[in-house]
Amino acid sequence: MRRKLAAGNWKMHGLAADLAQAEALARDLPAPAVDVLLCPPATLICRMAKALARTPFAIGAQDCHPAAQGAHTGDVSAAMLADAGASHVILGHSERRADHGEDSALVAAKATAAHGAGLVAIICVGETEAQRDAGQTLAVVREQLRDSLPDGASAENTVVAYEPVWAIGTGRTPTDAQIAEVHDTLRAALPDAGIRLLYGGSVKPSNAAEIFAIANVDGALVGGASLKAADFGAIIAAL
Ligand code: PEP
Repeated sequence: MRRKLAAGNWKMHGLAADLAQAEALARDLPAPAVDVLLCPPATLICRMAKALARTPFAIGAQDCHPAAQGAHTGDVSAAMLADAGASHVILGHSERRADHGEDSALVAAKATAAHGAGLVAIICVGETEAQRDAGQTLAVVREQLRDSLPDGASAENTVVAYEPVWAIGTGRTPTDAQIAEVHDTLRAALPDAGIRLLYGGSVKPSNAAEIFAIANVDGALVGGASLKAADFGAIIAAL
């Protein structure tokens, strides 16, 4: 039985003042029956890890460099993130694939680095709207998964998130049947039956319970709604 996971991706949002939101959520939330993770911008990882140290919340990052150290101005290594208090790192988010030209081979190299530093890699895959319209969804996510998963991926060190690009931040979501079809496909391709498979893309309190009821959905990667303590709390409660 895979334990459910609610992961919040703050993206490039959040200043020190916003830590109060996370602290209030951790304080007011009844002990969650699921794993909860918050991924703030890198600047807040250290402070958030300290602020939430005695809560059930884990802290994650949103990217790492594949190298352990070196002349990579502006980048952060997996070991540095672990040192700052992170236990997870999101990799291959479609915004990084699009904004920074990241391909699946680079995502796999980053995941290897994350594993080497003791971090759990949350590997994102998902089709664009054009790919869905062209009937390529299953082929695209299968290929992304195959090429992004590093050797040694297991339930202990890897989570996969299916995030249709067209559903991110748009308020649009696939039908339950479309989510089920992709999750069933990914599940069949995963090397370890214990690897958790999250859905991400416009999850909010009003649709969370329905999405979580779909077979092979082991939780959610939540963007916008994770920025509001009340909304993220409601999503956690729906899991
Ligand atoms: C995301 O960016 O990972 C995401 C799922 O965003 P949103 O929930 O805002 O669609």
